[in-house]
Amino acid sequence: MTHPLDLVPQLGHEQVVFCQDPAAGYHAIIAVHSTALGPATGGTRYWPYATTADALLDVLRLSRGMTYKNAAAGLALGGGKAVIIGDPRRQEGRADLFRAHGRFVDRLGGTFITGEDVGVSPADLEVSATMSRYIAGIDGMGGDPSPWTAKGVLRGIQACAVHRWGRADLTGRTMVLQGCGNVGGHLAQLLRAAGARLVVTDADPVRAARTASAVDGTNVLPDEIYDQPGDMFVPCALGAILNDTTIPRLRVEVVCGAANNQLQAPHHAEALASRGVLYAPDYIVNAGGVISGSIALLGETPEGMAARVHNIHDTLLTVLDLASRDGVTTAAAADRYAEARLREGRG
Ligand code: NAD
Repeated sequence: MTHPLDLVPQLGHEQVVFCQDPAAGYHAIIAVHSTALGPATGGTRYWPYATTADALLDVLRLSRGMTYKNAAAGLALGGGKAVIIGDPRRQEGRADLFRAHGRFVDRLGGTFITGEDVGVSPADLEVSATMSRYIAGIDGMGGDPSPWTAKGVLRGIQACAVHRWGRADLTGRTMVLQGCGNVGGHLAQLLRAAGARLVVTDADPVRAARTASAVDGTNVLPDEIYDQPGDMFVPCALGAILNDTTIPRLRVEVVCGAANNQLQAPHHAEALASRGVLYAPDYIVNAGGVISGSIALLGETPEGMAARVHNIHDTLLTVLDLASRDGVTTAAAADRYAEARLREGRG
């Protein structure tokens, strides 16, 4: 198996920084994957990694993923990520820890701009922002990205409908939606307004029941969602849900949703294709959230930002057509598309 340190040159990271402030109980890694298109942006994750090697592996993969997502979205932003190693429930000394994080982010001088991710709240970032102006995703620096993510996913779903059925109209189509959280709950309403029928689930039964009732849909148990017959599966909960166990159970023609890292392993893109299921690459479809940050980060106008989210439809169609033309999976086509944008940006 490849050692995580060997991944740094393999994945092509520009800079990886190990940060320690023992007095603050702060141990973190910041990975700047690429600044070819602009400052590296990506969230800060606070997670109890078992080993530093696990943390390194995560930050290297996540930061590279941000490079691809931002490039494919046409943003003048690079890719980066930070991970803080520890128990995200820690309350004692939490402000010291996030002040330390702000100081280390600031040292990078704007090469890296960060926001929220798993385990980090807007209040945490407010504290980091007292030490650095390179902190986004707090009040006045972007706001809640979820409604924009949901809007972008709807545009992705419409592009899949065009590609698969020849028209964007979703009237009477059945959407099998997993996860009724910030994005999924909002998206369920947008899909209903577009005329679709919904079958929904959530690990939180109250949330699932509330969403089902709001959209006049059916509510099923979390594990039953993979067996539901329908037109599309719309994952908006966890990653790695497309795997050896779930793929054979799917009874839909298309998978298109917000969840990050939906494929458990790269070969699951082929597994879906060989069953005739059209897979919409997640980072193309769920870019509405990062695009919404472009107002604060890039001085984009609200109209320009909304147009860019709307354009996820065309970007996805381009990627799906590229996959058909080149005879590769849609996931591989998305990577080719993002890599071409990166080359153009560097050129
Ligand atoms: P959220 O935490 O608000 O919602 C996730 C929902 O999934 C919760 O209601 C949770 O109860 C449910 N869930 C968890 N495990 C489940 C399971 N096994 N079965 C069914 N439901 C389960 O998160 P969110 O902000 O709505 O994000 C959803 C997904 O979209 C995540 O994968 C996230 O990484 C991705 N994403 C979100 C954004 C954004 O703007 N929020 C942007 C890009 C990608």
